[in-house]
Amino acid sequence: MTATAPRYMTRFRCLADACEDTCCAGLVVLVSEPRLQRLKQAVAGTPDAERVETFIRLEPDASPGDDAVIAKREDGHCVFLDARKTCSLHRAYGEAALPDACATFPRVATRWAHGLEVTGSLACPEVARLCLLAEDAVDTVPVSEDLALRPETARSLGGGDSEDAWTQHAAAVRSTALSVLQRRELPFAARLFALGQLGLRLDGFYCRGTEVFHGDAREGAEALLTEVLRAFTLPETLTALHGGFAALSLPGGPWVGICAAVLKSRLGAVRSERFLTLAELVLESYGGVDLLPDDAWRRYSERRERLSPGLAQRVEQYLRHHAVNHWLRHPFTDAPRVLDYVFRMALREAVLCWTLFGHPTVVALCAEVAADTAESRARLDAAAVECFQLIAKHVEQAPQLHALAQGLAGSGGDETLGRMLVLLKGL
Ligand code: SF4
Repeated sequence: MTATAPRYMTRFRCLADACEDTCCAGLVVLVSEPRLQRLKQAVAGTPDAERVETFIRLEPDASPGDDAVIAKREDGHCVFLDARKTCSLHRAYGEAALPDACATFPRVATRWAHGLEVTGSLACPEVARLCLLAEDAVDTVPVSEDLALRPETARSLGGGDSEDAWTQHAAAVRSTALSVLQRRELPFAARLFALGQLGLRLDGFYCRGTEVFHGDAREGAEALLTEVLRAFTLPETLTALHGGFAALSLPGGPWVGICAAVLKSRLGAVRSERFLTLAELVLESYGGVDLLPDDAWRRYSERRERLSPGLAQRVEQYLRHHAVNHWLRHPFTDAPRVLDYVFRMALREAVLCWTLFGHPTVVALCAEVAADTAESRARLDAAAVECFQLIAKHVEQAPQLHALAQGLAGSGGDETLGRMLVLLKGL
């Protein structure tokens, strides 16, 4: 057991043709040159040789060394998908012939200094179900590296540069952030606000490319980092931040406006029927594509208020598990600063929550003032899995979301934290 994973990944089994989605639909599947050669050897002398030659190619604007891309059909599915919704290459030539992305999805493997970590992509509905619904789903447990299927393809963080303080201290910073996310005595929005404050405190000295940890200053910088992280593990720090946060009052219209803009930005870009149907129903529930933000906010707030406390706790679990999985799956060191990462995460959580409360099942549950029964819980769970999976697949990694986040975040520091308050309004 030399690797770790959130517990839900130990429960994961691909649903294959029983799955409500198809993993390759809507995703760009890249194929490295060595993997392409291996596949060509596997199909040599068969009718598939010509198909591989035709359908797996470099993009017209590719540079030497870039990965090839597998062509898609008009409906967005992979050209090698068969009528049973299974991969024809897998069936004929086995798992070893597949490109890395096809063989390992939905597993995501990252090699940190302390060892290999395996997480999952919520773009897979079975991962979304396992990650969101079980109470112990995101507890970290020891696992074999084989859980990654191809651990040798794991992304490696850092690179052993002892002067790179940004990656060297990343595990400690992430561990503090995860502990804040688990403080369930505070509202979820207050925990995200505390993470924003943590990002702000770190902004001046702990960021990508920091040089404060070099030479004689290193000891002082490390002591300061330890002190800041320690402060955010103390209940009194978090309670004080929550007090300040709870005293703030902001209008809800801008929050709805941002969430709706994110969803609408994907309507013309996504071909998935499942996503488009959900997006249209959600927008409709808030007044349509041309919704009035203040009116849509009123509808959203009424739904939230009418959801029974037991079901509201369930919603908190979905958001918490999604946020924890996000920290595990997407290293924050890819962002230039912790605050930048937290801001984007807050935007994701806002869009997810707003979408969930626009799902027809949730709208109906709120209209009924449904009690926390096994049946109402099962209906809410199914709606959450659908929303979180489709948003993970078609919105969370989209260039439109990143461009919007870039514009919304402002110039960093206090300005970014101030703007983040708008994103926390509806959570
Ligand atoms: S999306 Fe997940 S469960 Fe569905 S076929 Fe792909 S890996 Fe299997």
